[in-house]
Amino acid sequence: MPNLTVSGVRTTIVDLPIVRPHRFAHHSIDTQSYLLVEVVTDAGITGVGEGVSPGGPWWSGESIEGQKDIIDRYLAPALVGGDAEDLTGLRRQWDKIAFGNLFAKAALETALLDAVGQVYGVSLATLLGGATRATLPVRWPLSGAGTAQALEEAVDRVALGHKSIKFKMGALAPADDLRRVAELAEKVGSDVDYLGDPNGTWDLRTASWAIRELEAIGFSAVEQPVPRRDLRGLGELREAANRIDIMADESVCVPADALDAVGRRACDSVAVKPGKAGGLRAARLVTDVLDTAGIGTYGGTAIEGPIGTAASAQLFATFPRLAHGCELVGPLLLSDTVTAEPLSYADGELIVPTGPGVGVRLDQDKVGRYRRRDRG
Ligand code: MN
Repeated sequence: MPNLTVSGVRTTIVDLPIVRPHRFAHHSIDTQSYLLVEVVTDAGITGVGEGVSPGGPWWSGESIEGQKDIIDRYLAPALVGGDAEDLTGLRRQWDKIAFGNLFAKAALETALLDAVGQVYGVSLATLLGGATRATLPVRWPLSGAGTAQALEEAVDRVALGHKSIKFKMGALAPADDLRRVAELAEKVGSDVDYLGDPNGTWDLRTASWAIRELEAIGFSAVEQPVPRRDLRGLGELREAANRIDIMADESVCVPADALDAVGRRACDSVAVKPGKAGGLRAARLVTDVLDTAGIGTYGGTAIEGPIGTAASAQLFATFPRLAHGCELVGPLLLSDTVTAEPLSYADGELIVPTGPGVGVRLDQDKVGRYRRRDRG
């Protein structure tokens, strides 16, 4: 039996340059930071995970710096000497030590699963129930402002094989935003599938008319139209909608949220993300609860880097059904990587890595190059 006793945990913040500024509802970024978490075992195998926050703490409340601190100071000391295969036991321990901190715990759990996968020579998809597909269709997210540049980018991406686009919305006044996406969708064409995501910035009344407008211009889904706590509002929008799917993102993070969404018939689909769920195994549970109730599961993103994208891809590859595709574009937004091999994309699809564990390995020279030096 391999000895997967944890002998140490290493955390490294890297700041990777991105190819163009990415605009969210209230926020814009030009570098993306990641926390690389390496779990070293007595067997000599090192598992890797990645902590992420999409351009800062605005989405989840967790920052990269905070994730590093909670792991270094509180979670790692409890992990050293433990058995990397005892995922349930370790998890219970972390939850006693720190409430929440879901993205940090997800990063640590991915590192453990990666070590386990390497020891047994199997991918995380195998550990998570087995892959049902080898590639994942990738929806291209367009920045929340600007028309000319967004049009150029959309046309380029469709030419590269992406068949679906997501409009980040909410940065403009709703009427202007609606005009902008209608104009873009008309120019890009009707062969492409469209989704809008205002990150919960609309109130219920605005959302009601905006969704009718989006439906009229042929959008297939709207993601998190109302604030995250308004599950009831989501459910009302879903009742009123005709063909357009109401997708939850911020409203449905952990398995208990999935149960609530099912109970309230709050949505047609959910953007599943390992980080917000607190790890790959919790995200697996979220997926199974939703799928059992006939709610679609979409492969969401928090703009993970190469490690996080590979880990998410391993999970999404196991989905019984993949509603609206996935959004694993992180590596395509970065102008460099920290892995030995880049993730491969072809015809608008991400090729799920097939190697053991997460399926990609760190390039320590690259890690050294992008490592944050001032504080981490
Ligand atoms: Mn979203």
